[in-house]
Amino acid sequence: MNKKVIIIGSGFSSLSASCYLAQEGFKVEVYEKNSTVGGRARQLQRDGFTFDIGPSWYWMPDIFDRFFADFGKKTSDYYQLDKLSPAYKIFFSDDTMTIGDSLEKICTEFERVERGSSDPLLKFMGKARENYEIAINNIVLRPGLSPFELVTKDTVLRVDQFFKTISGEVRKNFKNAKLVSALEFPVLFLGAKPSKTPSFYSFMNFADFGLGTWHPKGGMYEIIKAMRQLAESLGVRIFTESPVEKIRVADGKVQGIRSGGTDIDGDIVLSGADYHHSESLLDEPYRQYSETYWDNKTFAPSSLLFYIGFKTKISEVAHHNLFFDTDFERHAQEIYDTPQWPSNPLFYANFPSKTDDGMAPEGAEAGFFLVPIAPGLEDTPELRDQYFDLIMQRFEKITGQEIRSQIFFKESFCVNDFVSEYNSYKGNAYGMANTLMQTAFLRPGLRSKKVKNLYFTGQLTVPGPGVPPSLISGKLVSQLIAKQK
Ligand SMILES: Cc1cc2nc3c(=O)[nH]c(=O)nc-3n(C[C@H](O)[C@H](O)[C@H](O)COP(=O)(O)OP(=O)(O)OC[C@H]3O[C@@H](n4cnc5c(N)ncnc54)[C@H](O)[C@@H]3O)c2cc1C
Repeated sequence: MNKKVIIIGSGFSSLSASCYLAQEGFKVEVYEKNSTVGGRARQLQRDGFTFDIGPSWYWMPDIFDRFFADFGKKTSDYYQLDKLSPAYKIFFSDDTMTIGDSLEKICTEFERVERGSSDPLLKFMGKARENYEIAINNIVLRPGLSPFELVTKDTVLRVDQFFKTISGEVRKNFKNAKLVSALEFPVLFLGAKPSKTPSFYSFMNFADFGLGTWHPKGGMYEIIKAMRQLAESLGVRIFTESPVEKIRVADGKVQGIRSGGTDIDGDIVLSGADYHHSESLLDEPYRQYSETYWDNKTFAPSSLLFYIGFKTKISEVAHHNLFFDTDFERHAQEIYDTPQWPSNPLFYANFPSKTDDGMAPEGAEAGFFLVPIAPGLEDTPELRDQYFDLIMQRFEKITGQEIRSQIFFKESFCVNDFVSEYNSYKGNAYGMANTLMQTAFLRPGLRSKKVKNLYFTGQLTVPGPGVPPSLISGKLVSQLIAKQK
C-alpha cells in the first residue's frame, strides 16, 4: 500500500512538496489552518480591488518554469506572464531612477546618473550571471545535509566571495550612492543587511537586471491557484480550516497529527509551517532547537503593510516603486542591530493596476505599501496610524500629488497578524535570513534529527526565503522522503 504523507500548511513549499510526493506515488493530505491556501501568498479582494497580501515580485521565471516542467506543464498552461517595462522605479530625495526591462536600458540609466558607470556594471553583471548559474543550477539544489555539498570546483574557485560582502563588492566598483542603493536592493530579499550578505549572492543582481521582473496576470495568487490545481490533479487532498495542534510521536517515530481534536495517522509528516512553530507542536524531548537557538538567529524583517483602494489613478508611479529617499543605514540598524520602530524608513509601494486592469475597477488604483520593520516589535493601531501618515506624507511630497483624499478604503497587516495568521516566529515576514552562518547545512534541517519520518520545508529551512527558494525547498524535501519509499 502507498505510504501516506501528511503535510502541515499550504504555502509555496508545502504545495510544491505535495505535487512532487503525489507524483512519486505517495498518498498526500495537506492540512491548512486558514480558510484559503497559499500561506503568506494569500489574496485580498474587496469592492472590485485585488491585492496580493504577501509576495508581489515575480523574479527568476526559470525556477517557476522548471517547477511546472517537472510535471509536464508550462506556466502558460495556468497563467499569463508579462515582463514589466519598466521593471520598477526608485525614488530618491532629488531624483528618480527607472529600471528598464533590459540590461541595455539599465546601462543607459546608470550612465545618466553617473557617466562611465555602465562599464563596471557590465563587469559586475558578468560575475553575477556566473554566480546565478552556479547557485541555481547546482548549490541551491542540494539538501543541506553536509558542508561538503558546498565544495564544488566552481565554489572553490570563488571561495573568497563567501567571505567578502555584497556591500563591499558593490562599493568597490561604484561610488555613487544611488547606484550603490540600486545594486544593494536585490539582496534585501535574502533578509539580511548587504553588509552581512556574502558577495556570492550577487546572483540576485542577475535575477533583477538580467532576468527581469514579471507579473502573472491577476497577481501572484494565480501561481497558488495553478499549484493547487496541479496538486489536486495529482490526487492531493487539501483540507482548509484545519489547524494542526500536535505532531504525534511514539518511540521516536512519527505517528501522524492531531487536528480539530481528531488523531489522523500518517507514515510521514512534513511541516511547511514556520519551523519554530512546527517544533512547538512536538513534545519537548523531540524538539531539535532550543528557544536560545532561535533567539540568536538573524530573522528576515517583519513588515507593516497597507492595502489601499484609491478612487482615482495615481500618477508618476510604476507597478513597483522603491522609496529610497532616506538613510538606509539607519533603517537597517533599526531592523537588525537595535530593533525598534524606524525613525524614517525606506518603503515599497506596489500598484498592480498600473499594468493589469483587472486588479482595480476602471479609473481606480490598487495600492499596496510595505514598510520593513524588525520582527517582534510592539504592534498597536496607534503605531500603524502614525506610520501610515508618515509614508503618505513622504509619498505625496516626492511624487507631487495629494492622495489621501482619494482613499476609498484601507486595510493594514503587521506583526500581530503574521503571528495570528501564520504562526510566524516573532511575526517575521519572510523567514530566516541567508547570511554566511545561516546558509545551506547551517540552516535548520529538512529532516528531523530526533524523530523518524518527520520532515520540514519552507523559508526557515533550505535553501531560504522567497517564493523561488520555497518551490525548491518542496522539491528537495520530497527527494529526501522519496529515498525512503
Ligand atoms: C509581505 C511579504 C512580501 C513578500 N514579497 C516577496 C516577493 O515579492 N517575492 C518573493 O519571492 N517572496 C516574497 N516574500 C516571501 C515569500 O512570500 C515567502 O518566502 C514564501 O511565501 C514562504 O512560503 P512557505 O511555504 O515557506 O510558508 P508560508 O507561506 O508561511 O506557509 C505556511 C503555511 O502554514 C500554515 N500553518 C501555520 N501553522 C499551522 C498549523 N498549526 N496547522 C496548519 N497550518 C498551519 C500557515 O497558515 C501558512 O499557510 C514576501 C513575504 C511577505 C510576507
